[in-house]
Amino acid sequence: MSRTLAPGRGSRLDATRQHNLSTIFTTVHHHPGVSRAELTRLTGLNRSTVGALVAELAELGLAREVAPAQHATRGRPSPHVYPRAEVVALAINPDFDALVIGLVGLGGTVYKRERHPWKGAPSVAETVEVAAAVLERLRAETTPTTWVVGVGVAVPALVRSDDSSIVRAVHLDWTEEPLGGILSEALGLPVVVRNDARVGTIAETVFGAGRGVRDLVYLNGSPSGVGGGAIVEGITLRGQDGFGGEMGHTAVAGGREQCHCGRRGCLETEVSLERLLAALGRDSVDPRDLDDELAQTAANPRVRAEIQRQMTVLAGAIGNFISIFNPELVILGGFLGSLYTAAPQMLDSAVARDSFAQISASARIERAQLGSRLLLVGAAELAFFPLLRDPAAHEQGLTS
Ligand SMILES: [Zn+2]
Repeated sequence: MSRTLAPGRGSRLDATRQHNLSTIFTTVHHHPGVSRAELTRLTGLNRSTVGALVAELAELGLAREVAPAQHATRGRPSPHVYPRAEVVALAINPDFDALVIGLVGLGGTVYKRERHPWKGAPSVAETVEVAAAVLERLRAETTPTTWVVGVGVAVPALVRSDDSSIVRAVHLDWTEEPLGGILSEALGLPVVVRNDARVGTIAETVFGAGRGVRDLVYLNGSPSGVGGGAIVEGITLRGQDGFGGEMGHTAVAGGREQCHCGRRGCLETEVSLERLLAALGRDSVDPRDLDDELAQTAANPRVRAEIQRQMTVLAGAIGNFISIFNPELVILGGFLGSLYTAAPQMLDSAVARDSFAQISASARIERAQLGSRLLLVGAAELAFFPLLRDPAAHEQGLTS
């Protein structure tokens, strides 16, 4: 038997190299334009290892180095490393009012975003049909070297993470739909489907208010209800079926209304966009205009009373989540972010009053940062994850 000095795949050396390559690639993805010196500091790897791994990523077509601008500084200037712009994911967010679809590059750059409004909730077949047509057109429009690595989907639904199937999406009226499998077959790409609030949690953790935070709770308010997610010691809370983090369906004090989940007095029946809009006397408001609407009507006693009521309920719920998760940060997205911006001190002091003081003292509340990019960036992250984990294992599909 012949022996070779080169380690085979699966050896410990190989596993270390893969881990380091993944660490460098993930860091470049999270910090596009990071200098090589900064990569050394952020990853704790030595300079020559970082140089070799960056060269390998460049060879794989995943990253590129840019010489620094000529400065009159002393010492050797450090090149900047960017993820390759041609490496993209297709991000899809079907909701009852519209299908939003986009092409997102590494580094969280949204290259294309399209919104297809629906009249009434779409079927799975209609969703797949639109997604396939848009992908075909986007491929024709982008450069031939564009590589769509996969598809990420954010749905307001209970999603089984094992097989990316929809268990129940109330507002879309989908029950037991194998969405991931159907989409993958139609598009010829790997597909990952997750609950929309979970996707938002990932996006805010990677590119938004939760950057670098290891313990956080994210609460999102959408027209469909209140969803959530938790990051515990840097890991997304999943639960045995992937349903963990349904914070909108925890009971709140004084809540009596019947919820679609079968319980009464859930957080999302008490704190809802619908009830806020009713106080405003409006049927619907573009989410981007909600801050202005609330600011303009702040003096209206009816609006003020409703904001105060929702704030009080929300504060009680946040107090519970702080007791359970001991987070450093609670992030509020969607209409919950608008509510917070309307009266931040009201919520801060209500949370301080209604929570376990020694636990909540070290927790802070912030509004989500990614706005309308949130779900596209998060969905793309789902698609990028296998590539980030093992950059060398993926065949560069430059022609597809
Ligand atoms: Zn419920």
